[in-house]
Amino acid sequence: MSVKYVYLFQEGSGEMKSVLGGKGANLAEMTKVGLPVPPGFTISTEACNAYYQAGKQMTEEMKDQTIQALKQLEQMTGKKLGDASDPLLVSVRSGSVISMPGMMDTILNLGLNDDTVKGLAELTENPRFAYDCYRRFIQMFSDVVLGIDHFYFEQIIDDMKNEKSYRLDTELTSEDWQRVIEKYKELVQQKTRNPFPQNPADQLNWAIQSVFDSWNNQRAVIYRKIHKIPDDLGTAVNVQMMVFGNMGDDSGTGVAFTRNPSTGEKVLYGEYLINAQGEDVVAGIRTPQPIHRLKEEMPDVYRQFEQICHQLENHYKDMQDIEFTVERGKLFMLQTRTGKRTAHAAIKIAVDLVEEGLINKETALLRVDPDQLNQILHRRVDPDTTLQVVAKGLPASPGAASGKVVFDADEAEKWSKEGEKVILVRPETTPEDIHGIVASQGIITSRGGMTSHAAVVARGMGKPCICGCEELKIDVKVKTASINNTVIREGDLISMDGGTGAIMLGEVALIDPVLSDEFQKLLQWADEVRKISVRANADNPEDAKKSREFGAEGIGLCRTEHMFMAAERVPIVQEMILAETFEERLEALNKLLPMQQGDFYGILKEMAGYPVTIRLLDPPLHEFLPNLEELIVEVTKLQMSPDADPAERYEKESLLRKVRKLHEFNPMLGHRGCRLGIVFPEIYAMQVEAIFKAAIQLMQEGISVEPEIMIPLVGHVNELKLMRRVVEETAERIGQETGMAVTFTIGTMIEVPRAALTADEIAEEADFFSFGTNDLTQTTFGFSRDDAEGKFLHHYIDHKILPENPFASLDQRGVGKLVEMGVQLGRSAKPDLKTGICGEHGGEKESIDFCYRAGLNYVSCSPFRVPLARLAAAQATLKNG
Ligand code: PEP
Ligand code: MG
Repeated sequence: MSVKYVYLFQEGSGEMKSVLGGKGANLAEMTKVGLPVPPGFTISTEACNAYYQAGKQMTEEMKDQTIQALKQLEQMTGKKLGDASDPLLVSVRSGSVISMPGMMDTILNLGLNDDTVKGLAELTENPRFAYDCYRRFIQMFSDVVLGIDHFYFEQIIDDMKNEKSYRLDTELTSEDWQRVIEKYKELVQQKTRNPFPQNPADQLNWAIQSVFDSWNNQRAVIYRKIHKIPDDLGTAVNVQMMVFGNMGDDSGTGVAFTRNPSTGEKVLYGEYLINAQGEDVVAGIRTPQPIHRLKEEMPDVYRQFEQICHQLENHYKDMQDIEFTVERGKLFMLQTRTGKRTAHAAIKIAVDLVEEGLINKETALLRVDPDQLNQILHRRVDPDTTLQVVAKGLPASPGAASGKVVFDADEAEKWSKEGEKVILVRPETTPEDIHGIVASQGIITSRGGMTSHAAVVARGMGKPCICGCEELKIDVKVKTASINNTVIREGDLISMDGGTGAIMLGEVALIDPVLSDEFQKLLQWADEVRKISVRANADNPEDAKKSREFGAEGIGLCRTEHMFMAAERVPIVQEMILAETFEERLEALNKLLPMQQGDFYGILKEMAGYPVTIRLLDPPLHEFLPNLEELIVEVTKLQMSPDADPAERYEKESLLRKVRKLHEFNPMLGHRGCRLGIVFPEIYAMQVEAIFKAAIQLMQEGISVEPEIMIPLVGHVNELKLMRRVVEETAERIGQETGMAVTFTIGTMIEVPRAALTADEIAEEADFFSFGTNDLTQTTFGFSRDDAEGKFLHHYIDHKILPENPFASLDQRGVGKLVEMGVQLGRSAKPDLKTGICGEHGGEKESIDFCYRAGLNYVSCSPFRVPLARLAAAQATLKNG
């Protein structure tokens, strides 16, 4: 049985992408709906596979079908390939199922030879045009088919221009081009030991085979590997009658989007050039005109074009990116495809298309990529400002900021306390710089990549970050950063754009992220659809407020240690940690109590009527203590200096002893989480008291509160049992003291494997589970995050040992299995157990999809990611039902 390998455009359709490739299918579809597409045919992807099976040979069947199609094309156009009086000229282009840049280049003007070029010259009465076409054809064909580099041809043109003292290609005359062509032919003879092929049928066959061969060229093979495109898809070949935009002032060529791809506004957007071929638009020799000018220059063509754009949008139900050519006043469509767009445009177009009745809400929700929203959920540089960029680094975390330069974390914190906006500039950052990062508007490092500490922490906090800006020579000691001859000193004002990696001197105008009306509408639709709640991770009233504005339905994680880090509290926290006796510790805790109560009051108030999960103290205590190395240096200096104050020396020495005592070999696995609460229950009791007192205060004001108290790092049910008792006893005590009862729940983080493995036991003591996938990823992989991201993780990702950073996108097979097990075991013991996720993964679309499938009740993420999570949650619901 014979296989159909060749399809005229009118025989195909848009659905036949796998057979005709993307370009072929769209050309067929446009032909089918009656648009003016230059006629042609597509040789299928199956032919490509058959070509390889036959040992890189066109089979007889293929050849016959191509000849037949060519005959039909000749009939349709009334022209003949190789006819010296009225030659058919064609373009030959590859077109795979999935668009693959780096495949074969296009060959235009195929069919020209020494005879037909004369015919074309006479027919068009434009010899210059005809010879220009011919030389372009020789050049493209020689490059693509014969493998002779463009460079040699360009050299011949340059020599000609030098000889004639021309500046531009456009100055070459018809005679000049004819001389160039002679030289081109000599070059081909010399390089291939054969004359340039003059038989158009041979030209066509060779071109087709070259397209097939290009499927397996090195670039294409590598591209497929990177993008996981199967090798057996094959490429199609499109052979299409040439139309010429360079036939005079009634011809032209252009590209246009049916809507503005940056704003989404419903206006034609694009440009064109009169008397030009496609490549001239890109080459930038002449400045193209905006598309609306076509209305004046060629009103009839413009009207028809506008109507076609409308028709294409209605047909494809999406914004299109279109290529067209006008030949002597007649419009031809050369390509249409779904147009790429910014996040703003994606949202506006999706919502507008629903309102125009072209698509439904569900389709609109699936049209916007949550990842793209990162672009618009941060402060941005006002696009109307002209920027003077002095250096560029890696765009590690989006958003823009202006501030005064500081070179260390302590300074950053100090200046920020004094009300200054600062940008922390460091060679790199380490976990010790965290307070400086918290205090800064943005972070710039000269070393490190996209997974460096600074990048990861900044992304997590939603702060702009530029990494690996090697042009910046930072001297931390003298507090300068120089870029060539410019020296930036401490206190100098600079600006940064973490989305582009650009650094500017001085202050630039920034604009706040706003959720446009369309975005609000889209998110409202998302809320109607989604079956998983979205909360925020927030630990101060401002973030809580922002979260509500962004649509969070509660707080999934309030990290109380962040409240301990404020500068005026650190000495009291240190007092508490260094206390020798229970009484001393209690004294410090009593000072902290009203502060904590104030924090909780503010947060619970912002979240009135919504649940707030408050996690009791988690990190190792040494994080609040002075740095060990620095302390050793200080003490040594005091010991060596004869005039040092002995009292000061004694105090520092005893501080050093305590810091040494608290020093841990592996703090991530050390005395942290509930282990702190177990050894020092009074710390947790103080926090719980502060929560209840704040709650009662609010209840007295008529504000409803829903505190959920969460115990971190539980690995054994007994740990939770004990901590539950501390919470309940405190609740009872406060109840008796105030005569008021607060409704609350007690739950736990599931963030070490043992907790997930014994979730049924743990559920007996928990009202809810919150999966802390940051620590669960660390402990499941046995990676310490800071070490992994700073040292070897990028190597793992570069070498495809891991597909991606498991701290950014949940490792579903490993860590995910523990999450699923945790949910199932937990619910086997307590069917109505509430479950959520509060690790960074809660704001990442693939992980959100996983959480939905695993049956979690909510995801919780940084406030600025809440809109993204709402959309991703809706998509997860739509995709999985
Ligand atoms: C976690 O471990 O996932 C978590 C949310 O806690 P933290 O990041 O504060 O350790
Ligand atoms: Mg944790």
